[in-house]
Amino acid sequence: MLTNDQLDQWDRENFFHPSTHLAQHARGESPNRIVKTASGVYIEDRDGNKLLDAFAGLYCVNVGYGRTEISEAIAEQAKELAYYHAYVGHGTEASITLAKMVLDRAPANMSKVYFGLGGSDANETNIKLIWYYNNILGRPEKKKIISRWRGYHGSGLMTGSMTGLATFHNKFDLPLSQVIHTEAPYYYRRPRRNMSEAEFVLHCAAELEALIAREGADTIAAFIGEPILGTGGIVPPPAGYWEAIQQVLDKHDILLIADEVVTGFGRLGTMMGSDHYGMRPDLITIAKGLTSAYAPLSGSIVGDRMWQVLMDGTDENGPIGHGWTYSAHPIGAAAGIANLNLIDKLGLVENAGKTGAYLNAQMSAALGEHANVGEVRGEGMLCAVELVKDRDTATFFDASEKVAPRVVGEMARLGVIARAMPQGDIIGFSPPLCLSEAEADIVVEKTASAVKSVLG
Ligand code: PMP
Repeated sequence: MLTNDQLDQWDRENFFHPSTHLAQHARGESPNRIVKTASGVYIEDRDGNKLLDAFAGLYCVNVGYGRTEISEAIAEQAKELAYYHAYVGHGTEASITLAKMVLDRAPANMSKVYFGLGGSDANETNIKLIWYYNNILGRPEKKKIISRWRGYHGSGLMTGSMTGLATFHNKFDLPLSQVIHTEAPYYYRRPRRNMSEAEFVLHCAAELEALIAREGADTIAAFIGEPILGTGGIVPPPAGYWEAIQQVLDKHDILLIADEVVTGFGRLGTMMGSDHYGMRPDLITIAKGLTSAYAPLSGSIVGDRMWQVLMDGTDENGPIGHGWTYSAHPIGAAAGIANLNLIDKLGLVENAGKTGAYLNAQMSAALGEHANVGEVRGEGMLCAVELVKDRDTATFFDASEKVAPRVVGEMARLGVIARAMPQGDIIGFSPPLCLSEAEADIVVEKTASAVKSVLG
């Protein structure tokens, strides 16, 4: 076993961390929590400190840590068959079973599931399938993708482009020209303070119409959106938003991708976020909650209207030239089966709705009136506290003050992990779906203490 000094040294000498300030990390200034084990909603670091993980890793450990039902399923699968590929019609019992279980949980009019490894590659798959689809239909110009500012769809070339957050574009020559962005459904940051929610919905739909008119509907293939904005600030859409957007898309024959990487399999208190908001997607992206991150696995659920065209395309063009070595990896599939069974057995979708509502209500009660809290918002087991300099004008703090990172740092000192979201001073919560009310109370109490100790 490595000593603490060795761990620190080898880490700095060898390990390129994702989404990390490289220079600060090399100087030893950035958080360097090395996690050793975990159970339930708690992680334990190398020094034996226990922290309540109110972000479920990265919104992914939905069933909580240490579930032996899943680790045993993984071990059994690894012993029986660790790997076989899925090209040219091959499969395994695990991948076939999981495909059926996913479709059973998907909204109506969904036809097949294509398995990948993570949310980013599943969204890259979606874009390639859409381009293939429009080429088969003889519409080679209909290729652009509309996403929203503050959307998060991954870190690849197309997916990083669709992500509407500056840090994921800067110095990477992104976004690529096939991706264009429209208004985020972020009512708290609406263009005029006196705009009602209904007016703001009309404004978002009008912005989308104007963008489509500028670009030409015959150049636009699809619109991608998370049912509720996640990494962009945990922002539920205003009432009627998805209905209004859906109408514009239908009018111009533009496909809808529901990116359910965060919301899929229960986080909003419904199995899928599309059901929660009445979205009618053509493609659904799933990842995190599919295996609760016990093994990497993602999926693109393909709707009926696309499936028929894709199939016809292969009769003309031969096999579809898109595959990953690890598509439908049996160990991921075994984890997925055990995970979905556990979600059902423990009633975690219901708990996400019930305890999530409790968490949101308690957070509002504790912090809603604080002079530097602009908004407490959330849905299901997602919650956010937006911190502002002046709540009457919703003025931002200067970024150099690092308000949210300081609050989150103080919370960690108090034993709770939350996330400072990447744009603005927003404290995000996305706990495991098995959170209890007593654990929610701890999260709220430590958040309130940390906000008070940083902002008074
Ligand atoms: N879509 C959404 C909505 C996400 O939140 C994420 C990851 N946070 C992704 C896609 C990308 O997933 P991954 O990091 O597994 O590639």
